[in-house]
Amino acid sequence: MRYVTSVGMEVHAELLTKTKMFCRCPNAFGGEVNTRVCPVCLGLPGSLPVINRQAVEHVVRTALALNCQIAMWSVFHRKNYFYPDLPKGYQISQYGETNPIGYHGWIEIPSEDGENKVSIQRVHLEEDTGKLMHLPGGKAGVDFNRAGVPLMEIVTAFPPDIHTPDEAREYLHYLRLTLIHLGASDGKMEQGSFRCEPNISVAPEGSDKLGTKTELKNLGSFKAVSIGIQHEAERMISTIDNGGELHQETRGWDEGRQISYPMRKKEREHDYRYFPDPDLPPMVFDEEYIEGLRAALPELPLQRRKRYIRQLGLSAYDASLLITDDPGWAEYFDEAVSLGGSPKLICNWMNGDFLAMLNEEGLPARESSVSPAHIVDLVALLESNRINGKQAKEIFEQSFKTGEKPSDIVKREGLEQLTDESEIRKAVKEAMNQNPDAVQKYKEGKTNIQGFLIGQVMKKTQGKANPEIVSRVMTEELER
Ligand SMILES: [Zn+2]
Repeated sequence: MRYVTSVGMEVHAELLTKTKMFCRCPNAFGGEVNTRVCPVCLGLPGSLPVINRQAVEHVVRTALALNCQIAMWSVFHRKNYFYPDLPKGYQISQYGETNPIGYHGWIEIPSEDGENKVSIQRVHLEEDTGKLMHLPGGKAGVDFNRAGVPLMEIVTAFPPDIHTPDEAREYLHYLRLTLIHLGASDGKMEQGSFRCEPNISVAPEGSDKLGTKTELKNLGSFKAVSIGIQHEAERMISTIDNGGELHQETRGWDEGRQISYPMRKKEREHDYRYFPDPDLPPMVFDEEYIEGLRAALPELPLQRRKRYIRQLGLSAYDASLLITDDPGWAEYFDEAVSLGGSPKLICNWMNGDFLAMLNEEGLPARESSVSPAHIVDLVALLESNRINGKQAKEIFEQSFKTGEKPSDIVKREGLEQLTDESEIRKAVKEAMNQNPDAVQKYKEGKTNIQGFLIGQVMKKTQGKANPEIVSRVMTEELER
């Protein structure tokens, strides 16, 4: 029997704010344990929370970017459960179908023949929990530095639109890039500021019911997510085929052994006894505020990708090299393209020599001495055949070191490429006269000796000769 896999996705992203969600403690990563805490985020009696406006704005902008409806009147709820990392005994979160700040949206992800839509059920705002730590001697501790950090939860709609590990990975990739380009989150999976928990089920093809689902935890990378989903789907299918029974459960991913293992069974949904938090006022938005934020949204990664491919003629691969965790990289490219020049050549130079030099120096593009105008200048020299590729590399290296414009370097050092055919022919003849053995070998059929002769010509012209013309003229002279 053939099976269809369905994947729902729950993503938690910590928001980029100066302070925590409901108090003035700094929102930061790492540091000495329990140093960024106060009565509010420790849940001490009598303390009162105050809503962080910046965090709300991040969630509204994300919801708009994800094509959501906005709840113009949205309240916080208390989600009650007991766990040592939760100082108040409840988490401030948002509950309900149309109460979360954003609901009923969608995001596009690239597919083989265009784009797929993944429906989003909700985007809501809550607070992060503390972190449990294992201490020497079998003891445990809690670090509350993370408790109360603003956290956004993004949940896909049911039934899920994601059916393959690749789609799951693309969804996470574009969602994460979207949050980074919005400036809402830094998306650092390794620091836990972007976390995802897929739930997976399989059902016979054509069935209108979804199978029993499991939730997968401890996925540390996008690669682990796609391998984990693949593994889980295969495990479920083989269990069913062997007459076994699936349980609704939470499973952990063992990265070392590349398998999932049972963590806990979900007998029934938890009763969190949600109720509106009486200490917090409702968030009431007006049209003007929402439309102002909508109008100020930046170009989003998928829109940019479409523009690069469909308007600028770049390949999907080139587009992916430009749309990265650093929105400034794509902006740099856009600025260069707006100054004129071939987008493909600009892209190649940025992702080739320029990126290598930036990485070596540990510099962001804007802090280097090479501006978009420098790249355009270099590309123009190449396109007009005034310099060849080898010269371009040397000129660019100088430009990177000194900030001098490539065309100024060419002028100052007299580096213009030699394209005059009669002069090139003269150099070719000279090289042949000085190397009769090589010419003889060529005539005897060892045609790859031509490379050596071309090298001689390049040497004679101080590397300035246009290599295509040299090669053509050389063949003509040798075949005479
Ligand atoms: Zn605090």
